[in-house]
Amino acid sequence: MFKCEVCEGGFGPGVAPVKLTVERRPRTYPLRWDVNPEPKGFRRVEGQLACVDDPGGQGWEIVREVVACRGCAAAGATGAATARVA
Ligand SMILES: [Zn+2]
Repeated sequence: MFKCEVCEGGFGPGVAPVKLTVERRPRTYPLRWDVNPEPKGFRRVEGQLACVDDPGGQGWEIVREVVACRGCAAAGATGAATARVA
């Protein structure tokens, strides 16, 4: 059971809620050394670490999410929002 934070309607058991992203911000992820396990087929030189680097980069970070019903999520609720099934 859950209550939709957009239309404020209550929904009973068996109805899955949807998380609706209403605010996000750009994020820069830094380079990280030796954090990922080596990929399949990776040829390791003797004495080399068994990890590879994460190159980092640009992405998006969720600032605020609301719990919504499928109807509100499909309508976009806030216009710029993007829906993601929970
Ligand atoms: Zn709703």
